[in-house]
Amino acid sequence: MKHADVQPLASRVAGPVLVPGDEGYDEERTGANLAVRHEPDVIVGAVRAEDVQEAVRFAGGRGLPVAVQGTGHGYATAARGGLLVTTRRMTQVRVDAGRRTVSVGAGARFDQVIPAAARYGLAPLNGSAPHVGVVSYVLGGGVGLLARTYGYAADRVRALELVTADGQLRRVTPDREPDLYGAVVGGRDNFGIVTRLEMDLVPVARLYGGGLFYDAGAAPGLLAAYARWAEGTPREMNSSVALIPMPDDPDVPGPLRGRHVYHVRIAYTGDAADGARLVAPLRKAGPVLLEALADMPYRHSGSIHDEPDVPVPFQRETAMLREVDDAVARTVLEHAGPQAPVPCVVELRHVGDALARAPRHPNSVARSHAPYLLSVVTLLYGIPADDTSPVYDGLFAALEPVTCGAALNFLGHGPHAREERVRAAYAPAVLRRLSRLKAAHDPSNTFRLNYHIPPTTP
Ligand SMILES: Cc1cc2nc3c(=O)[nH]c(=O)nc-3n(C[C@H](O)[C@H](O)[C@H](O)COP(=O)(O)OP(=O)(O)OC[C@H]3O[C@@H](n4cnc5c(N)ncnc54)[C@H](O)[C@@H]3O)c2cc1C
Repeated sequence: MKHADVQPLASRVAGPVLVPGDEGYDEERTGANLAVRHEPDVIVGAVRAEDVQEAVRFAGGRGLPVAVQGTGHGYATAARGGLLVTTRRMTQVRVDAGRRTVSVGAGARFDQVIPAAARYGLAPLNGSAPHVGVVSYVLGGGVGLLARTYGYAADRVRALELVTADGQLRRVTPDREPDLYGAVVGGRDNFGIVTRLEMDLVPVARLYGGGLFYDAGAAPGLLAAYARWAEGTPREMNSSVALIPMPDDPDVPGPLRGRHVYHVRIAYTGDAADGARLVAPLRKAGPVLLEALADMPYRHSGSIHDEPDVPVPFQRETAMLREVDDAVARTVLEHAGPQAPVPCVVELRHVGDALARAPRHPNSVARSHAPYLLSVVTLLYGIPADDTSPVYDGLFAALEPVTCGAALNFLGHGPHAREERVRAAYAPAVLRRLSRLKAAHDPSNTFRLNYHIPPTTP
């Protein structure tokens, strides 16, 4: 596409409109995952809802597919052609302390919401990394740091502003448009682009949290031991364990440098003394290399997982597991442990409990009774993405007997976002309903560069 083709659009949009070759095009299309980049014919850097409307109308008039990017941590499919809406400039955050709600623009990140809410002793149900975008995380379910205690972030959505495929800006609430509300919360941009989202906050001002690190070589049974420990803890105890190949890098604390380590992460909403008592048995699971556990203000909770806020190329895949016993732990380690042909970060989160609760307003996030969420991530430095496929395919096939679904937010991109994988993230009846609604709201399938829900054919 040339400048002349997009001139009418650029004259109506407040943000930048860029075509390939423009200064700023590369920066605008680049998100947090450098593994693959969108290659759209045109990018609209939206600063307001009207820009999104103009972009969708422009694309609709030319039969172009539309993709949307917030911070770029979680796209499913890279756009090859079409129109990309970026929302990184739409970062407004408004906390209403009286109603315990927050209203966020499409591009806001949790590290903007957490301090704003903390001023009133409140917190959002954010995930492990505060630099992730709020809207996409929440619409994908949102299995947060406090998921066991408070359930899905998606269940707290009060209202959405949504630009649908016809270019209309609609206010969507559970009362005004229950079907569309239930479709977007869980179905993300299959039904339109959210320009603003309002959700409840929870009264959490502090935590007992942090982590313990173990040498993986000296604690071979830690994965299964962690699972046995986690199952006996109350729902106020949110935890996970990650097996991480630590780089041999001076920035890494000495005891961890260059080793495969287990990192057990703790976010306990009860008091510090109870938290310390509950964590104590974990110290017997192996020699602890490093420990950092303390009472902390919630605004510091990003330090628990301590995921770096720098763009990296990565691949990810996930499964919900109904059990993790010695045999399952062995399977995980055989495929993705220290001997795996590609380096893998394996994370096992203890979830369940509040995630199984029915939401106050129906949405399309699959309810899960599964106690574990397993995800595997590979940093693709010098590793072709195709090299991860045998490892991931082998592992997730071997785990099939204990797998019961997948979490949309962790599915991964490219081959990991194929339609049969996406299906695992929805209950079958919900998926059929979403396909009917997709046909009604997006008959031309404008929003297809995503975890795609195919429209029902008449
Ligand atoms: C380090 C890290 C930690 C994570 N931790 C957690 C966690 O604890 N819990 C959890 O549940 N998830 C977690 N995730 C997954 C994360 O929630 C998803 O990847 C999410 O999609 C990221 O949102 P984003 O805006 O950053 O991504 P983007 O790549 O910008 O967006 C991803 C997709 O969301 C859709 N989308 C984006 N903006 C809009 C919009 N305005 N309207 C409609 N659809 C839109 C589009 O399909 C887009 O392709 C984590 C991811 C990473 C990389």
